[in-house]
Amino acid sequence: MSEQTRQQFEFKAEMKQLLHLIINSLYTNPEVFLRELISNSSDALNKVRFMQLTNETVQSADDPLQIKITLDEKEQTFSIEDTGVGMTEQELVERLGTIASSGTLEFIKQMQENKGKLDGNMIGQFGVGFYSAFMVTDEITVETKHANPEMPAMKWVSDGKGTFTIEESDRTQRGTKISFKLKEEHKEFAENWRVKSIIKKYSNFVDYPIVVGEEEV
Ligand code: ADP
Ligand code: MG
Repeated sequence: MSEQTRQQFEFKAEMKQLLHLIINSLYTNPEVFLRELISNSSDALNKVRFMQLTNETVQSADDPLQIKITLDEKEQTFSIEDTGVGMTEQELVERLGTIASSGTLEFIKQMQENKGKLDGNMIGQFGVGFYSAFMVTDEITVETKHANPEMPAMKWVSDGKGTFTIEESDRTQRGTKISFKLKEEHKEFAENWRVKSIIKKYSNFVDYPIVVGEEEV
């Protein structure tokens, strides 16, 4: 994809503040990022399941509804891919950057009252889930293809500081893949046993198979 078709966007002011708090918070429990990403995948799978129940035409109609996590200990990489509803270009720009979720301001206030102390429950409670991944990585790539076959696949990349970029992607499969390289101090999240034990702890509520490597957890 050429430079001309890559667009750069600025995060909304509250979002910058939120990301700064998340990235620099000292007392966090970084493993909650995994629960948040799985919960987003699960929401996206619920949406596509609903579309199928209402007989809407969906991309990759025969793909099983599932979540797949791929780890590489040597490269210190993590990815989570779902066959959920995906995001349109507009949704990507709005939901991952320019429209702060309703909980953002409340979250920032609470963080300030707590003197910068952040706990895992706060992240889920205020709906700032996706950004919690910036606790464990310096750059996130999101590739997504909306279930509506007319919508082009898109790629979003950000270091969580001031800006993010969007461009078309050649993804053909319905759903969303979020991938990143782990920070050195969080490389444990590329380890199979570690990731599986976190999933067992937090994700009993998920209705869909979660596959780590080749194995369902
Ligand atoms: P919340 O889940 O509370 O809305 P998040 O920060 O966790 O807040 O996610 C923000 C938004 O980004 C979601 O509401 C959804 O629209 C979109 N999103 C995030 N992850 C995915 C995904 N895997 N598939 C589709 N949309 C997603
Ligand atoms: Mg969420």
